[in-house]
Amino acid sequence: MININDAKFITSAAGIADSPEFAMSEVAFLGRSNVGKSSLINALTQRKGLAKSSSTPGKTQLVNYFEVKFGQKFSENEKFDEALANLGENFSLMFVDLPGFGYAKVSKKMHYIWQKNLDEFIKNRPNIKLFVHLIDSRQFDLDIDRNLREYVESFLRGDQQILRLYTKADKLNQAGRAKLLKSDPGALFVSTLKGSGVAKARELIIKRAFGL
Ligand code: GDP
Repeated sequence: MININDAKFITSAAGIADSPEFAMSEVAFLGRSNVGKSSLINALTQRKGLAKSSSTPGKTQLVNYFEVKFGQKFSENEKFDEALANLGENFSLMFVDLPGFGYAKVSKKMHYIWQKNLDEFIKNRPNIKLFVHLIDSRQFDLDIDRNLREYVESFLRGDQQILRLYTKADKLNQAGRAKLLKSDPGALFVSTLKGSGVAKARELIIKRAFGL
């Protein structure tokens, strides 16, 4: 079982130029504004107010760094996971909360500056090992998400992976779920409202970030 020993805000940055280097792997969270990114980061780290909603009016769009310290103990009645066991009892990751895409309440000029900053950041940050792309499960085939996916795939390095997570699964009906699964058969659903899929997502994020 994986525990969160600590999760804390480290710093904010406007782009790559003022981002410190950390001696650990990074997991970058991407998604449209309002997709449920802050809620998921808070659920994954079990810290309620850690990440703040990107749709808060007037809030500056910054890259936020959260250091997450994990701990694990293996009990006898648990299925032994060799990949996770390799990580030892304690390990850390830096969660990188990137500004939500498609945020409407800013001027064109500001929007352009963010895009440029973000583009530079995403492509040039050596420690990013995993991009977690959050997609609203009720609107899974939007152009903005298709573009985001193609964009990340266009520069993905050999030591990097993408994990797609479909949010707000509690709002999805049977038909919607079936339609999504047809388009992405291995789709992973999360609901922070119900708490479903969060532990599974946490485990996958850890495994992929460490290349396991
Ligand atoms: P962000 O802008 O991507 O950081 O999104 P937030 O985490 O702030 O969430 C945006 C809105 O969606 C808020 O009103 C949340 O309460 C709601 N929300 C987030 N996750 C879920 C979920 O799993 N289920 C439901 N029903 N609503 C959610």
